[in-house]
Amino acid sequence: MERWNGYQSAHKFWESRYFPDRDVISDFKRMLEEVEEAKQEASFFDGSPESRQALGEEMADIIISSLGVITQLGLDVEGLLEKKLTKTYTKYPVEQ
Ligand SMILES: [Mg+2]
Repeated sequence: MERWNGYQSAHKFWESRYFPDRDVISDFKRMLEEVEEAKQEASFFDGSPESRQALGEEMADIIISSLGVITQLGLDVEGLLEKKLTKTYTKYPVEQ
């Protein structure tokens, strides 16, 4: 999980450098655009290396744009992930 805070710090710097006027709403719009791009790639997905690469890049764009929203809101990405995963795994435990 440590990497997430590193990604978030790097992303915060990158956004302040290239998109200093971006706000939460514009980051949400960007995230939705990336979801649409991923859906488009998924509709063409055929399992080939090229297709996997293209869809993977769009999935990464979704994560990156989510980081933008989370960073804009001043939230801790690692804390959010840990709490949500714990909550989900508690609600839906794996049967053994
Ligand atoms: Mg994209």
